[in-house]
Amino acid sequence: MNRSFRSSSLILFQLVLSLWVLPISARTQTPPLAAACETLSERYIFTNCTLGVYATPHCQCNSSPWLGSMALCITDNGGDDLEEQQQTWNLMVQTFCPRQPDSIASTMPMEAILLNATQFVVALPDNPATDNLQASIRFPVDELNLIARSNREFNNQLQYGLNYGAASCALVFGFMVLGMLNNLFHHSFSWRYRPKPISASSPWIQTIRRYVINPTLFTDGVHLQNASWFGVLVSYPSRLESIVVFIYVALNIGLLFPHYDLFVENTFWPNDTAAQLARYVGDRSGEMSFAQLPMVYLFGGRNNILIWLTGWSYDRFIVAHKWTSRVMVLHAIVHTVAYTWYCAHYGFEMFITFFSDPYLLWGVLAIVLSVVVLLFALPNLRRSCYDLFLYSHIVLVLLFTVGCWYHVALLEDEENMMWLYISISIWSFDRVARLVRVIYYNIMLATGQRGLRTVKADIIPGTDCIRFRVDANKYGLSHRMPGVFVYIYVPGVYFWQSHPFTIASWHQPSDHPLITTPGTSSSYGTMAIASPPLTINKSSTHRSLSGNTFDLLIRPQQGMTKKLYQAVEKLGPGGGDMEVLIEGPYGHTHPLLQYDTAILIGGGVGCTATVPYLQEAVYNANVTATRHLIFIWVVQYDDQLSWAQDDIEECLDHINRTRAVSANDEAESTASEKSSLALDVAVYVTRSTRQLDDPKKQQEGWNVAYGTRPDLDKLLGQYVETAPGSVAMLHCGPDRMSDQIRRISALHGIPYFEEAFNW
Ligand SMILES: Cc1cc2nc3c(=O)[nH]c(=O)nc-3n(C[C@H](O)[C@H](O)[C@H](O)COP(=O)(O)OP(=O)(O)OC[C@H]3O[C@@H](n4cnc5c(N)ncnc54)[C@H](O)[C@@H]3O)c2cc1C
Repeated sequence: MNRSFRSSSLILFQLVLSLWVLPISARTQTPPLAAACETLSERYIFTNCTLGVYATPHCQCNSSPWLGSMALCITDNGGDDLEEQQQTWNLMVQTFCPRQPDSIASTMPMEAILLNATQFVVALPDNPATDNLQASIRFPVDELNLIARSNREFNNQLQYGLNYGAASCALVFGFMVLGMLNNLFHHSFSWRYRPKPISASSPWIQTIRRYVINPTLFTDGVHLQNASWFGVLVSYPSRLESIVVFIYVALNIGLLFPHYDLFVENTFWPNDTAAQLARYVGDRSGEMSFAQLPMVYLFGGRNNILIWLTGWSYDRFIVAHKWTSRVMVLHAIVHTVAYTWYCAHYGFEMFITFFSDPYLLWGVLAIVLSVVVLLFALPNLRRSCYDLFLYSHIVLVLLFTVGCWYHVALLEDEENMMWLYISISIWSFDRVARLVRVIYYNIMLATGQRGLRTVKADIIPGTDCIRFRVDANKYGLSHRMPGVFVYIYVPGVYFWQSHPFTIASWHQPSDHPLITTPGTSSSYGTMAIASPPLTINKSSTHRSLSGNTFDLLIRPQQGMTKKLYQAVEKLGPGGGDMEVLIEGPYGHTHPLLQYDTAILIGGGVGCTATVPYLQEAVYNANVTATRHLIFIWVVQYDDQLSWAQDDIEECLDHINRTRAVSANDEAESTASEKSSLALDVAVYVTRSTRQLDDPKKQQEGWNVAYGTRPDLDKLLGQYVETAPGSVAMLHCGPDRMSDQIRRISALHGIPYFEEAFNW
């Protein structure tokens, strides 16, 4: 991500965050005493204010008996502080007479009204329902206190809902802050001590990694693999993630319970504490549900600045997205059940009256849609029919947002509208940022090239893998960033969809300063260190180093990638140009190369996530701390080696050349050339029937084991136990392999980074 994009995102993020805290402030509420006085005044009939027109502000705000009774009520019950009494009076006028600028309430001072009232105050009428009052009265204090208590409790409940919703957001952001601090530590470490390695972890940190950070939730070792609950596929977060999720869910459930002041004298629901509870629980859960919304939108977006700030992977934010959505829906269900019970409690007619109100119908639509969205997002459908999941997700979430909007807009509930404003801003920001990225990176008008970016596409011979070679000479993607991925749109194949692919390898002329003679090639058969300008021929092994390029390796699945494969196949055996839009880069580099020993393990096309780290360690050895790099790659068939063989051999060759130069000419060699990186490459072709490679290649470091599977427990165990200093591991590959390596990393208590191709 380039710097200007990051800083503008950061500013926007801060703006959004400042908007976010607004609802956490106090709700705008009717002042309790003024509201209680007003409520009590409704039991009497004041001059000119007959029952029919009584409650109109015009009548109240021009009625001297009503205003006088209100002034007496406020001054008698509002404490001794005159200023406070005046404030309550002002609030009363603002609340009940806002559109009556010429009324007595707005033009006459409180003292004058009070003086008049005190002089002519009369006793309470015998029959309040029919007696017409010509002068002010003093409302009964007992009743007033009960009304004030009922009002206060009602207001408090709304405020609790808001506060507890905000508390749930604060908890999640507390976890984010921990992630940010951890990320800051790694960044400042690498800025200050580059290339000094992080020292080995103390035993207690290893223990925490062993039992808390690294392991899968249960001891069955299932994390990326799916577990099945009665036929429903589920994926468990890692143990650390599960603990965080548990605390978050427990807090959200727990906060539905405390602080309910239920009393039989409640003037809204007299003798009915059950109705009070149902209404309060309904309001609180509704507010807490809305409070989750911004997090749901933020964590599901691609341009989530928290990914950059915490250094956590998109996968982790998808876990957060799932759980905040679930908690949001859980609260919404509680809200619906509580309100349904509350309405039904007053009989069928009341129920029908309630449910004929448009605001309630929009709410019903929103809750139904949110449940459907959750069901459609279950792995059963998402994994087998991603298109259906994606389209239904977008359409249903859009309708859900409209439902939520009208549900609160019709209630004129400004506080809950705020959550919606924030959510929609986050969503819009993500969409605009995607568009800007696509335009910025792909429209090539400024360079005098054609309108859209073209990439070189071919199918790697003997395999089903598509390769895109992309010209990286554009700011933002022109220098190597291990671990990042891009989304691609292929207008000729599937215009309306974009899919993520990791940048599999970077080719930069600056990586090869030792090569001065064009056409010089290494001693390895398939490798061409310097070759003619970029053309992809039958063998697809040539590459140009005249400019920066990067490769994407795409293994076809059943959807868009299958169609893409067919389209590339049509280009012929040598491949050809294809119009492709690139959106990115997304993701970030894990601090793997800050450790003395880095172990990279790739399974199949998972080499896309490991090769860039290998390249970075080799070509940037002077600025990375790792001094021993172990590169393990497991594929099934011989031909699949060509996915990354060139890149690996180039790295080996670079190291061998560097050593040779250093040995021959100690004085002239540069810092990077003097690097003492030890590289162990172990490649396994599990279904091969071939014999060992020629001894020369083995001697240079290219060790391929044919027809055998590595014993990862033993192999990795040996590496970890014999490695001096700190060790970290990264894996990308099949889900089962990932879970196995996670278990091994937990056993040894070392840092583990995982790249998953699925969420
Ligand atoms: C961060 C990341 C990096 C990846 N890097 C690579 C790579 O370098 N090389 C490679 O071959 N594959 C990579 N993948 C996997 C690749 O994105 C999917 O295989 C591809 O999107 C499948 O498209 P499809 O329409 O053919 O899938 P389908 O046949 O419809 O589905 C196959 C599987 O891919 C998942 N999937 C489909 N579309 C998406 C999507 N847009 N986002 C996430 N998952 C999706 C589905 O849930 C399903 O499990 C990566 C995935 C992620 C998330």
